[in-house]
Amino acid sequence: MNLILLGPPGGGKGTQAKRLMDKFGMVQLSTGDMLRAAVASGSEVGLKAKAVMEAGQLVTDEIVIGIIDQRLDNPDTKNGVIFDGFPRTVAQAQALDKILDAKGRKLDRVVEVRVPDQLLIDRVTGRYTCAKCGAGYHDTNQKPKKDGVCDSCGGTEFLRRADDNAETVTKRLSAYHEQTAPLLPYYEGKGLLKVIDGAQDIAKVTEELIALLGK
Ligand code: ADP
Ligand code: ADP
Ligand code: ZN
Repeated sequence: MNLILLGPPGGGKGTQAKRLMDKFGMVQLSTGDMLRAAVASGSEVGLKAKAVMEAGQLVTDEIVIGIIDQRLDNPDTKNGVIFDGFPRTVAQAQALDKILDAKGRKLDRVVEVRVPDQLLIDRVTGRYTCAKCGAGYHDTNQKPKKDGVCDSCGGTEFLRRADDNAETVTKRLSAYHEQTAPLLPYYEGKGLLKVIDGAQDIAKVTEELIALLGK
């Protein structure tokens, strides 16, 4: 099963992708994570992407399409992938169709995780992750059981993203509405789109996603 989780910044795509991965053994492909790794490594792609990401704008289609095309050649993707944060433009969606076609694969579902804008600023500005294992947390919505200790690995260091501030989120939300929202009619037209209410609590969203994927 190849699935796209489509939704705004802070919508819960990464959170849900990790939970589905654990349950179904699919691989999460987050272009945001891949780009952050490129920035951290100082690669050519990273150097091109850094300032654009910090400004809350979209990296060029060419860069992210190249990253995904290459990543899909890794055999760990054969049992199914969850695209998280990709595609983000109609050009990326069209390129993905071609790439999957060429590799003899197809998209099975596109799920819009719908969350109203007014919830997203708090979701994003309260977000942090475990530095050791990448587990995701939130200042109020999803705290570790023991203060300052990661539930998954016991790590005690946490990270916040440079672009997770109120000013940049507003820009990322505009980019979402202008450049990514047109993907909804694109996939609706292909009969692939389902919508989930992402304003519900984390476990409820997972439950609905699992029910939907089982169908
Ligand atoms: P995305 O990958 O779509 O940008 P994340 O999965 O990183 O979003 O979620 C953003 C933040 O909101 C995280 O801190 C996460 O813990 C929290 N979060 C995710 N889903 C929910 C939810 N359904 N209700 C409340 N908070 C959530
Ligand atoms: P979020 O889900 O919180 O918006 P991501 O981690 O998906 O964050 O993306 C962070 C940043 O990385 C984006 O603001 C953008 O600059 C860049 N990026 C990630 N995926 C793409 C993509 N598919 N196309 C263009 N830029 C992307
Ligand atoms: Zn951890």
